[in-house]
Amino acid sequence: MTVNWLKKYSKNSLFLNIFHNIQVVISLIFLLPIICLADSSIPDTKIEHAILKVFKNQAVMGEQLSDLPIWPVFQHSELVGYAFQSIDFVDLRGFAGKPINMLIGFDPNGVFQGVQVLEQHEPMFSHDLPGAMQRFVNQYETLVVTDRVLINNGYKTKPKKQDKTGPIHFDGISKATISLAVINKTVFSSALHVARSKLQAYKQQYITIAKPNLYEPKNWEELLKENLIRKWTITQERVEGRTGLYLNEFEDPDLNLSDPTADLNLYYGYLNTPMIGRNLLGDDGFEQLMGQLKPGEHAIGVISEGFYNYLNNHKFVPETKAENIYLEQQDLLISMTAINIDRPRSMLGKNSIASEKNLHIFKVPHQAGLMPNNPMSLILDMSLALPNGKHIKVRFKNEYNLPNELFETINLEQSLETRALWVEIWQSRISEIIILSLGLILLTLAFSQQQYLSKKIKLFHQFRWAFLFFTLFFIGFFAQGQLSVINIYTLLLELSHGFNLEFFLLDPIIFILWVYTAISLILWGRGLFCGWLCPFGALQEMLSWVAKKLKIRQLKIPATTNKKLISVKYIILFILITAAFYSTNLVEKLSEIEPFKTSITFFFIQSWPYVTYALLLLSLGLFIHKFYCRYVCPLGAGLAILGKFRRFEWLNRRSECGTPCQVCRHKCGINAIDQQGQINYNECIQCLECIVIINDDKQCAPAMVAAKKSARKNKIAVVQLSTPVSEKFAMDAIPD
Ligand code: SF4
Ligand code: SF4
Repeated sequence: MTVNWLKKYSKNSLFLNIFHNIQVVISLIFLLPIICLADSSIPDTKIEHAILKVFKNQAVMGEQLSDLPIWPVFQHSELVGYAFQSIDFVDLRGFAGKPINMLIGFDPNGVFQGVQVLEQHEPMFSHDLPGAMQRFVNQYETLVVTDRVLINNGYKTKPKKQDKTGPIHFDGISKATISLAVINKTVFSSALHVARSKLQAYKQQYITIAKPNLYEPKNWEELLKENLIRKWTITQERVEGRTGLYLNEFEDPDLNLSDPTADLNLYYGYLNTPMIGRNLLGDDGFEQLMGQLKPGEHAIGVISEGFYNYLNNHKFVPETKAENIYLEQQDLLISMTAINIDRPRSMLGKNSIASEKNLHIFKVPHQAGLMPNNPMSLILDMSLALPNGKHIKVRFKNEYNLPNELFETINLEQSLETRALWVEIWQSRISEIIILSLGLILLTLAFSQQQYLSKKIKLFHQFRWAFLFFTLFFIGFFAQGQLSVINIYTLLLELSHGFNLEFFLLDPIIFILWVYTAISLILWGRGLFCGWLCPFGALQEMLSWVAKKLKIRQLKIPATTNKKLISVKYIILFILITAAFYSTNLVEKLSEIEPFKTSITFFFIQSWPYVTYALLLLSLGLFIHKFYCRYVCPLGAGLAILGKFRRFEWLNRRSECGTPCQVCRHKCGINAIDQQGQINYNECIQCLECIVIINDDKQCAPAMVAAKKSARKNKIAVVQLSTPVSEKFAMDAIPD
């Protein structure tokens, strides 16, 4: 019934006129809101609300600073942190070509208090995923601005176990890896920028680090002799002198007085330098330790033996602050945090003093500002318990000075610099990049051999279907390589404020596909992409095949109607591009005209209006071959416009094509061949079916005639060859 209705009305001239005027109506419907809506800046109340949320409603927002757009935040007149908008410090654009603006707050130690999303236009986070981005950024709370975060892919790998000393693993969101990578970079880059300008510990431009390659093997005695490892002895008498009590008057579990002559010996050293760390921990242990330290962090190893256990109650709890052992430098007390590494056997031997049970490792955070080439002291606070439960505290201090030759000074910027974001993303998706590249090479080879392939009809059809499956399942569903009209206007926006290649490199699959499509556009027009590389196009083609198998009647749209309907997609494209320059919010909504996100990105797991719309388009494709591609797709329209500059029109034609033969025209599913037999390259999807026909003497009428003629000729020649000479002369004498 639907078929008949469409057929009837598609021939009706009134219907055609109405449809023609739809162009104008659509323009008005879409352009009016464009004129009315414009992007606005974030209102102050929204910022204040976000700041209070970040600081848990327990703080008061101060006046914005005059030198930088940063708000100090107070609690009972005491400074408890700073808040700022990321957009004021970092201009990293997201998938939609616009920055993701966040309100970020950290305390005076550079510890994140929270992050609130203020504005974002990422297509992956519209409708069904609006809260997902906020849930993601909530994970930054309690991290330090110099921390390193690795984002687990939301669906391809399971989140790894949190390793407390290495990079921090965040739960990702499938299909949104690019946006999350941009968020991560934005949060840390902007926070570091603000920390450097406002927090003392981050102000230093240069830091001193141990020379990573300065190493020579040294034994325990040599390390001690050269003072690289410091031996610090505290006698029982000394403690008694400081406390004014005999040690046996204490009832402290940390005291071991079985040997009244035993001293407390502490051996300690700065482990970042290979000269100490590698010699003490061995190669594996040292590498492991360095892998756990973040840029700017330091490690101190402490070995102890004697009458007092400096770790209270024999406890060593990794990732907790050491309670009674510190560093001191320039009168500043520096806390240390216990860390654990699975140490292989020390180079110094299993039975040495540095055996595993005696050695403890502590790290000093970057923001402590420790300068390891300057004199420092190790501080030990002894807190000894008396039988009445009271404690007597005494502090001991020992100086440690390392030779300058062990160190070098580097720019802090360099030390914190990680690889460019796009490099990280390309490395993490290397297998997908290789598979896609191989697929594209194969496609290029097939196209270059199209004459040969099209003569092997079965092989050609097998190749085409195999490639369409590859396009839908690998490029589309798995690698998320569905190009979109969003990419076109992102490019235009990017060009309008200075081209940044790094932005486009953020998605390697989309980037490679665009580069390949751009080259194929210049050479052959839009067809190579639309016929072979578009996942939604492949999906429609498959459904169309199913429809034919189910004997669903296919509607042939009359040439004049077809011509008018084709123009609709150009109007849609024009509206979208115009809207992009007015309002990103609006264009985000308008771009839902593409059903790609619903069908390919989210596999129809979306709210019902989007699913209904996508299914409606696919259903129309059951009756009208590739309905969406031909009449609606703004991306196809954009590619057709760019494809007008193609160099070649390479699909073979015969002089008989169009006059009189119309076989290809009728067989071309999308009406890309006109009555004169000319191919409309703006519409042609290079399915190569007409090339198959042209080379097939069972389908192509002129080829059939030629084949018949040549068969007849051959027959005559065979007859002539098999006829006796006398008869042959007789036959030659017979007129035609
Ligand atoms: S017209 Fe649009 S949907 Fe169709 S194949 Fe081309 S890009 Fe894909
Ligand atoms: S049949 Fe020929 S003209 Fe039609 S879409 Fe395929 S390649 Fe293009």
